[in-house]
Amino acid sequence: MTSHNDHTGQSAVTVLGLGPMGRALAGAFLDAGVRPTVWNRTPGKDHELAGRGAISAPSPEAAVAASALTVVCVVNYEAVDAIVRRDPVTDALKGRTLVNLTADTPDRARSTAAWAAEHGIGYLDGAIMTPTPTIGTPAGVFLHSGPEELYREHRPVLDALGGTHTHLGEDIGRAAAYDIALLDIFWTAMAGYAHALAVARAEGITARELAPFAKGIGTIMPPLFEQVAEEVDSGRYSGEGNPITSAVSSMAHIVHASESHGIDASVMRAAEGQARRVIARGHGSDGFIRITDLLY
Ligand code: NDP
Repeated sequence: MTSHNDHTGQSAVTVLGLGPMGRALAGAFLDAGVRPTVWNRTPGKDHELAGRGAISAPSPEAAVAASALTVVCVVNYEAVDAIVRRDPVTDALKGRTLVNLTADTPDRARSTAAWAAEHGIGYLDGAIMTPTPTIGTPAGVFLHSGPEELYREHRPVLDALGGTHTHLGEDIGRAAAYDIALLDIFWTAMAGYAHALAVARAEGITARELAPFAKGIGTIMPPLFEQVAEEVDSGRYSGEGNPITSAVSSMAHIVHASESHGIDASVMRAAEGQARRVIARGHGSDGFIRITDLLY
C-alpha cells in the first residue's frame, strides 16, 4: 500500500481540491490506473482516496511539484487564487501545466491565463458539464480551451477521466463561456420548475403528480435547440406555427394564475415584458426566440 506522504516521487497528475467533484476526478484517475497526488485545504477529505492508492501531499506546493500536470477543481476562481497565487505554489508550478476545471466567468479565465503566462505556467481552462456520478463513465462531459498543443500533450491523462472531451479553441475564455451559457439554461429552467411546482401546489397538485407531465415538457426542448439555431445565427426568424403573439398570451395566463395565489411572478413578468417589446417593434409574427436579438 502506498504511503500517504509519498510526495517525493513523480505522479502522472495532481488534483487540488477534494470537494465532491475533486474527489470524483481523483477517484476516476485511480480507477483508470493513473495514480494521482491529492491535496485539499481542509484536511481529512483525502482519506478514502489515500486508502485506494492516491498520494496525499502535505501542502499545495508539494502536490504541484509531484506531477507535470495539475488539475484544480474548487468552488470558484477566488479559491483557485487562494491556492495557487502564493509564491511557493506559483514557483512550483513554473514549467508545469495547470488545468483549471473550476467553474467561473470567461473574464476570470482570461485573467488567470494572463497570470499563468507571466509566471511561465502552461494553462488550460475547462468546465465540467455533468454531475459527479458521471465522472469516470462515458456520460461525463468536459469542455476545454487554451493552447491546442498543450491540450494535445495532456489529453492522454485527461482521457483517464472518461467521458467526452472537447477542445473549443485557443481563446482561453471559451470553455467558461460555454459553461455560463449552458448553466443559464439549467438554472433558468430549474427556477421555472420551482415556480411551476409552487403554482401547482396552490392548485392542489403535488410534485409527484406533475412529474410525468413535466418530463413531457422537457422533451419538447432539445429538438427546439436545433431548430432555432439557424434562425438565431442568420437573424431571419419565422414564427411559423407559434408566433410570439401567441406565446405572450400563454405567459400572461401564468402571471395571472400565479398572482391570484399571491405567488411572485416577477421572472415570468420579465420574460413576458421582453416578448411584448419584440411585438411592439413590429415582430409579432416571429417566433419566441427573437427575444435573443432584443437582449443582444
Ligand atoms: P464546491 O463547489 O463546494 O467546492 C468545494 C471545494 O472548494 C473544496 O475542495 C473546498 O475546500 C474548496 N474551497 C472553497 N473555498 C476555498 C478556498 N478559499 N481556498 C481553498 N479551497 C477552497 O464543490 P464541488 O467539488 O462539487 O465543485 C467544484 C467545482 O466543480 C465547482 O466549480 C463546481 O461548479 C464544479 N462542478 C461541480 C459539479 C458537481 O456535480 N458537484 C458538476 C459540474 C461542475 P475545503 O474542503 O477546504 O472547504
